This record gives sequence, C-alpha cells and structure tokens, in this order.
Amino acid sequence: MANPYYESALKERAGVDQPVQVNPYYRRHKKAELTADGYVDGILSGNRTILSRAITMVESDNPAHIDMAQEIIERCLPHSGNSLRIGITGVPGVGKSTFIESFGGMLTKIGHKLAVLAIDPSSERTKGSILGDKTRMETLSVDPNAFIRPSPSGSALGGVARKTRESMILCEAAGFDIIIVETVGVGQSETAVKSMVDFFLLLMLAGAGDELQGIKRGIMEMADALVINKADGDNLAKARAAQSQYRAALKLFPKTGNGWEVPVGICSAIENFAIDNVWQTISDFSSITKANGSFEENRTTQLVNIFYNWIDFTLQNRFYNSEDIQAGIKDLLPRIKNREISPYLAAIKLTGKDI
Ligand code: GDP
Repeated sequence: MANPYYESALKERAGVDQPVQVNPYYRRHKKAELTADGYVDGILSGNRTILSRAITMVESDNPAHIDMAQEIIERCLPHSGNSLRIGITGVPGVGKSTFIESFGGMLTKIGHKLAVLAIDPSSERTKGSILGDKTRMETLSVDPNAFIRPSPSGSALGGVARKTRESMILCEAAGFDIIIVETVGVGQSETAVKSMVDFFLLLMLAGAGDELQGIKRGIMEMADALVINKADGDNLAKARAAQSQYRAALKLFPKTGNGWEVPVGICSAIENFAIDNVWQTISDFSSITKANGSFEENRTTQLVNIFYNWIDFTLQNRFYNSEDIQAGIKDLLPRIKNREISPYLAAIKLTGKDI
C-alpha cells in the first residue's frame, strides 16, 4: 500500500487555510506622470516636490527624460537669473557644511530663500555625495525656506556641472533668490563652479600649509573672498595671523579688473562668529559689480563659455565613442610608438583634414 506521506507532494490534501500573503487592497502606487506644463506650473508656483522631481529628470541620463528636461529648462529660463549665485569651496574638513548651515540659517532668517546644490565629481569615492550624509546641515535641511540638493552622481565633471547649472535655473524659477553651489577644493571642480557663480568664496584654515590644504594658487586667484574658518578658542590668534599672511600674499596677485579687492576674513561657523561679515562682503561685492557692469558682464562671459565648452565636450565624446575612431587609435598608437608614423599624420588620419 502506498504511503500517503509520500504522495503529499503530488496530491493536494485538505489542510489549514493559509492567510493571504499580500494585502488584497494594496495597489502599487505609481506617481502620476506629469506633463511639461505640470512641471513648469509646479516649479513656478514654488512647489518643492515638483522642483525635486524636475531636478531628478534633469539629472537623469535616460534618453526618454532628456527632451522633457530640456523643455522644462527652456520654459523656466525666462524666470531664472534673479538670484545671487555663490560658490563655496575648501578642502574636506574646513567646515563647509557647518558654514553653510550657519550662513544659510542667517539668510533665511532675514527673508531669503536659499537653495544649496553640490558639485562633487569624486562622489564615486564617497559613495554618494558630499551632501549625502544626513547629519549634514540638520537645521537647514528642515528649514522651509531652504532647499538642499546633493550632487548628481556618476558622469564626468562636464556632465555634473551641466546638471548643476540646469538645476540652478529651475531653483531660480521656483523663487530661490540665493543659490549656493558647494564643492570640495581639491580638484578641477572649482573651475566648474567658478564658471557658474557670481561670487566665489574660498574657506581656509589657519596653521595648515597651503599644500596641506590642497589649495593651489590657481584656486586662490579665482576667489572673490578668502575666509579663514574655525577662528575660535585657541585658534583665534592663529586665524588672525593667517589673515595678515594671506592679505600680504594676495597683494602679489594681479588685480581683478572688476573694481573689487579680494578681502580676507575670519569666522567661526560653529560659534556663529563673523558670519554676518561674510554676508556683508558678498552684498558689497554684488552692489559694486552691479553698479560698474561687471556682474552682468561676468554672466554673459559665462554663457559664451558654456556654449563653447559644451561644443568641445560633446564633440570630444562623440569622437572618442565612435567605434571607427577607437579602432583607428588601436591601430595607430603602436605605429606612433614604433616611429612608423608621425603623431600629426596619425591624428590627421582620424580627424580628417589638417587645420
Ligand atoms: P566640510 O568637510 O568642509 O563640509 O567640513 P564640516 O562642516 O563637516 O566640518 C568638519 C569638522 O570641523 C566638523 O567636526 C565640524 O564640527 C568642525 N568645524 C566646522 N566649523 C568649525 C568652526 O568654525 N570651529 C571649529 N572649532 N570647528 C568647526
């Protein structure tokens, strides 16, 4: 006689009713798709959720999103540009996020609406972004008049910079009148930030050699103001000494030509000391350069540069991504190394005519 126990896997036997595993009332909640009109109306009325979603679309590399993102940007453009764009850089640990927390809080208290964006092409390294850490800017991140957006991840600096610039347009259209773009002062990202802001602030530390701070002379030359942070406790005297040294060093730099003398300040982000001085400096810069026309001139130059840079970036990408070119390079490189062909001739073979 067959053992019913062995049949159990083949025959269904009456047993205890099992509870339903899935909530029958559960429906997958899909966010309603928005049209371009929906996005633009939402942004213009200051709807932060829609602004966030539009930025996500701008940041997306999905071809399906690119056209929509471009339409939203084009339509927001006429409503953008009315903000003060401030770039902030400095080595990791200098106190950028602490500074932005304190500076930003002061700005929203006096009635400004502040958006904080980040450029961090090294985000691979930090697995996310420099603003990704939830503990950063705790107060500002819940301030109804502040909007904090971490760096778009992936892609090359050119791509990240473009996404940040476009996000800036959307934030301005949404009514944010001060935009801070933060970056780590160790690589090329400063040049990218400098190319999209009106005022560039370099945060520094006292008592750390320039090499230690990773600050290159080029970055100091880009700055519209240097501020030595952590001017508190035992560090205050050191900060004042560093302030005189940097003032002297800046005297050797060429004049900026926009009627602005680069000041060196000190502050303590943690103790809220002299943060208002930084704002005074930026306000002075804005009035002086608006009055003498260099504010607008700088923005115009930036637009022209974006135009050329983007052409360069796109052409280069298109060129190097082409399979023919890749095969050509593979073939020509060993011949160049073996002195069989001159590098010029090899390049002309790939690019076409000589210039
Ligand atoms: P970031 O990497 O440049 O964003 O620097 P953080 O804002 O994360 O600050 C790095 C460390 O420096 C943290 O431990 C802060 O608490 C500390 N810090 C930031 N600002 C000040 C300051 O003004 N004074 C002092 N003593 N410490 C500060």
